[in-house]
Amino acid sequence: MHHGEEHNCCGNKKHGHEEAAHSCGCSLEKKEAKSCCCSGGHNKKVETCCGGGKKLLSEGKILWISFFALVASFLIGEFVQPAGVLRLLDFAWIAIILCGLPIAQSAWKALRDERKVNSPMLITVAMIATICLEAVFVFTGSHEGGHGHSYLFAAGEIAFLMALGEFLEERTVAKSRAGIERLVSLAPKRAERKAPDGAFEEIDAKDIKVGDTLLVRPNTIIPTDGRIVSGATSVNQANMTGESVPIDKAVGDEVLGGTMNESGAIEVEALRPESQSALAKLIELVEEAEGKKAPIARIANRWASYIVPAAITLSIVVFFFARFVLDTTTTDSFVRAVTILVVFCPCAFVLATPTAIAAGLGNVSKRGILVKSGGALEELAKVDAVVFDKTGTLTTGEIAVSSFETDGMDGDEMLSLAASAEAFSEHPIAKAVTGFAQRKNLEAAKAENVKSLVGTGVECDVGAHKVKVARASVFEAEIAYSEKLKKYYDGEKSKTVVGVEIDGKLSGLISLSDTIREEAKPAISALKEKGYFTAMLTGDNGGAAAGVAEKVGLDKVYHSLMPEGKLAKIAELEGEGKTVCMVGDGVNDAPALASANCSIAMAALGNDVAIETADVAMMTDDLRKIPSLLRFAKQIIFTIKSNMLLSLAISFAAIALSAYGYLDPVLGALVHNASSVLVVTNSARLLKTRWK
Ligand code: ADP
Ligand code: MG
Repeated sequence: MHHGEEHNCCGNKKHGHEEAAHSCGCSLEKKEAKSCCCSGGHNKKVETCCGGGKKLLSEGKILWISFFALVASFLIGEFVQPAGVLRLLDFAWIAIILCGLPIAQSAWKALRDERKVNSPMLITVAMIATICLEAVFVFTGSHEGGHGHSYLFAAGEIAFLMALGEFLEERTVAKSRAGIERLVSLAPKRAERKAPDGAFEEIDAKDIKVGDTLLVRPNTIIPTDGRIVSGATSVNQANMTGESVPIDKAVGDEVLGGTMNESGAIEVEALRPESQSALAKLIELVEEAEGKKAPIARIANRWASYIVPAAITLSIVVFFFARFVLDTTTTDSFVRAVTILVVFCPCAFVLATPTAIAAGLGNVSKRGILVKSGGALEELAKVDAVVFDKTGTLTTGEIAVSSFETDGMDGDEMLSLAASAEAFSEHPIAKAVTGFAQRKNLEAAKAENVKSLVGTGVECDVGAHKVKVARASVFEAEIAYSEKLKKYYDGEKSKTVVGVEIDGKLSGLISLSDTIREEAKPAISALKEKGYFTAMLTGDNGGAAAGVAEKVGLDKVYHSLMPEGKLAKIAELEGEGKTVCMVGDGVNDAPALASANCSIAMAALGNDVAIETADVAMMTDDLRKIPSLLRFAKQIIFTIKSNMLLSLAISFAAIALSAYGYLDPVLGALVHNASSVLVVTNSARLLKTRWK
């Protein structure tokens, strides 16, 4: 009912409740819930302010009052059995007004504003019909067969059960949202900034500017993404990643806004304003994800628009069927027709998908995994091939230079030129080269006209020199000319090798080694055990690729691929009828991530490309979560399907029973809502499901 009241105003916590079923009688006023007076820093989408006054009663109170009114109505019907016009003075009116009126209002609003006849309308019609039924009985004096209970009780009960069902559903969705609420609550509000005179002043986190020096005290939340300029500490990222081991950080290391600074006081230079921090981005994405419905939800919504005409038609058919085929009395046929209206509303069916997805996503987000849409879950459940990027995905991405060789040039000179070029690349190889040069205390001049050769390397001017650092395969012809380099290259076949070209001439080769992630092998064995096809797509050379593939036990390896090549391989696998899930880190594999049926980005926290391109962003880099996630996605889809089947079966049974007079509006409303509660409970189990 009135979702607006409790949460919205200004807690800065709960936002946008639009996820669950609109099309059912059970969740009506959600749209209004969006507009309220939150001044919270985070949600830019917060809309208009609440013009309307506060409601007098909370949702819970309305339900309790209605419940007691109905009990009173029942007891009076049972023991007092008032006669004549007195029957119309029933306590059930309280429930009809408190619970039923909002339903009628929203039905009317949908009709007026959107020209839509929806299921609330159906319920309203059913309520009015039951009330009329009672009125007709009272004024014609035709109380047949000792109807002790007034039909007003039935109308009140319908309204009450609808409100209750919605309340329960709302609670499931709210629980599922706990993840995002936790994130939003992490958003720091205040920060301490160093003033020019060296003193620290407290400012609003919103006012942080890039370059500000901020003081972060121990056991406080870091206000925005930044780099440590003084002090050392350990940072706990559990809030965002679900990974509870604190990470040591010292001067020069980057820290993320929203994570917990544990042991030391540090000074941090802000790299981003708070509104663009990794946390802000994450919150934005989670909120967006909530709005994106699964295609499977659309079936339910499409149905909803046919429901009202179908229900009314069926109700008329049943009236004539009961009257003339089964030969019952006119009033009895009328009762059956009204019961059809009550049981026909597919509340449970409409709830089947959104509640399961909300609960499923709630569970997933607790594990530091962000699934960006319900549709992605559906794809994940269908996956039968999982392909991995190599560098940064199956390997740690912490690459180190293992050796190098030059021809006709001093080694240090080559390395320092290479480091200059790599200073601007975000590739793990670039970090390895610059780090290596730094440790050798080599000066690296500033590069100009830096051009990134995507998936191959970099090119730039350093002083008077033209420098290019790129995959060795580009230089194969030149390597063959130099005996020295050829010998070295052949010896390093199983490593990642890059070439350094200076002024159009290949001057040397650098060989790098890379560490395989510990979890890679168990993760891939788990996938293969479940029958998934596994493969690697890498831009690296065949030797290095084969080494990794063999150690982790992949089914297939595709190497020396350019970013477009990875894309083509995925298309090829999909062409073979496979549903492909691409796992990558966003470096040189974004097109592949975007084109696969679904995609998972590893260690996505703070990695904008990955977090934006992939359907699933894992905040940590634990590959073992992938088989668990795929299995859980299957479980969610199974829950949705069983919900749908269950609700349809109950609906059809109830329709048949009503037509033959085994259900009256009172029992009909009960059966109808029992199936909603069943569906919501079934979905809520997903919140608690454990992962292996
Ligand atoms: P992977 O598919 O294993 O993640 P990439 O597609 O990122 O690998 O890179 C493929 C190859 O391109 C690397 O093995 C390397 O030889 C070369 N390369 C890419 N970027 C750079 C760079 N910045 N410097 C040198 N070589 C690079
Ligand atoms: Mg990569």
